[in-house]
Amino acid sequence: MSRIHVIGAGMAGLSAATSLAARGMSVVLYEAAKWGGGRCRSYEDTTLGCRLDNGNHLLLSGNRAALAYLDRIGAAETLTGPDKPLFPFIDLLSGAAWVLRLNYGITPWWVLRKDWRVPETRARDYWALRRLQRAKPTDLVADLLGDLGPLYERLLEPLAIAALNTKPDVASAAPLAAVVAESIARGGAATMPRYPAIGLSESFVDPALAFLRAQGCELRFGARVAGLTVSDHRVTGLVGPNVDEIIDPADRIILATPPWVAADLIPGLVVPNQFEAILNLHFRAGIDAGKAGFYGLLGGVAEWVFEKTEVVSVTISAANDRLDADPDALATEVWSDLRRGFGLPRTMPPYRVVRERRATFAATPEQLTRRPGPATRLINLTLAGDYTATTLPATIEGAIRSGETAAALVAEQ
Ligand SMILES: Cc1cc2nc3c(=O)[nH]c(=O)nc-3n(C[C@H](O)[C@H](O)[C@H](O)COP(=O)(O)OP(=O)(O)OC[C@H]3O[C@@H](n4cnc5c(N)ncnc54)[C@H](O)[C@@H]3O)c2cc1C
Repeated sequence: MSRIHVIGAGMAGLSAATSLAARGMSVVLYEAAKWGGGRCRSYEDTTLGCRLDNGNHLLLSGNRAALAYLDRIGAAETLTGPDKPLFPFIDLLSGAAWVLRLNYGITPWWVLRKDWRVPETRARDYWALRRLQRAKPTDLVADLLGDLGPLYERLLEPLAIAALNTKPDVASAAPLAAVVAESIARGGAATMPRYPAIGLSESFVDPALAFLRAQGCELRFGARVAGLTVSDHRVTGLVGPNVDEIIDPADRIILATPPWVAADLIPGLVVPNQFEAILNLHFRAGIDAGKAGFYGLLGGVAEWVFEKTEVVSVTISAANDRLDADPDALATEVWSDLRRGFGLPRTMPPYRVVRERRATFAATPEQLTRRPGPATRLINLTLAGDYTATTLPATIEGAIRSGETAAALVAEQ
């Protein structure tokens, strides 16, 4: 029986592997790390003495590929979130707090309700969101939407930073338009915030690995593929410190590594090569984040705060300019914001700063032109990963969808 070799056990690789295994195909999974999940994982933190996610990840109920993936691996019930499409915000500068609420259906009558829409906006302001339908990859978010006053500052700008992990004055509006088309534009039913009830690995990784094991797949951890042996436009072998694999002519490969690894393995492959960091600060403390379990923050250092079982976690996106910040100074600054927003004590509790230097590719117009499709010049190798040309920004949904696409192509061959 021919085998499919999936390289990388992040969201893209796990999505491809589980999709193929569900079709009854024989899968071998190679992962360089000793664990799965890639940029979307949980780990035991020795500093805080508890389990942490590498970063807060928010999904939306319109993320159909992610939800189908969770369904496949038996983890659909592991996500949680408010029972209504709502997003609470606090403006740390003015002290204003509000809850953005959508109605479930596709007709956005929520914009007619003053207490549901963004404060100081008018219903007719939202009409301008139609500009996104015509957004070209070269349109910048700030140029396209920046004139919309409070609607931009209090909703569109934070949404763009969260979705694109790129500052709006350099970010392309096209991937933001793709996100909006699959969520807000489809109504509140597609815009329910969702996140793991326990942890990223408990939702997205461990059940997938259990599923693959149950299907008889071979999982190789600590197996870094450092080189491909190529003959006649076909990969004939995988090599690495713990990998020495001959690829049979009928075998296929799905390369689901980050883009910089893919470019190393396939000379000449053009991929995004500029990245943005995300910082997460986890404090050993508790807050009451109400029904939603999280808040959007404006006017502070961080953009989102999540109430977790053992910690309060905040996210700073598009954070290249803060990568080298002194951790203690940064934590002090963020804690002061949290104190303002949530009335927390003056004494800062133990904290942990998790830096993901290359969290996502920078969603600039120039970088978008570097996103490759799944097919490569190597006949038996298909690409998957959040950086491939999915139209979505680098997200769980994009990564999982790319894995599905790669699996479908391979299954057809
Ligand atoms: C802090 C943070 C917060 C985020 N927040 C959100 C969010 O709120 N919502 C959202 O949807 N998305 C979010 N994202 C983005 C999301 O996590 C990524 O888009 C997604 O996880 C990428 O998956 P991937 O499979 O494409 O890549 P990766 O996760 O990078 O997976 C690639 C895998 O390949 C392995 N690998 C690398 N080299 C080799 C090799 N040579 N041989 C074998 N294996 C190899 C790696 O170890 C890794 O496991 C966030 C990301 C970060 C870092």
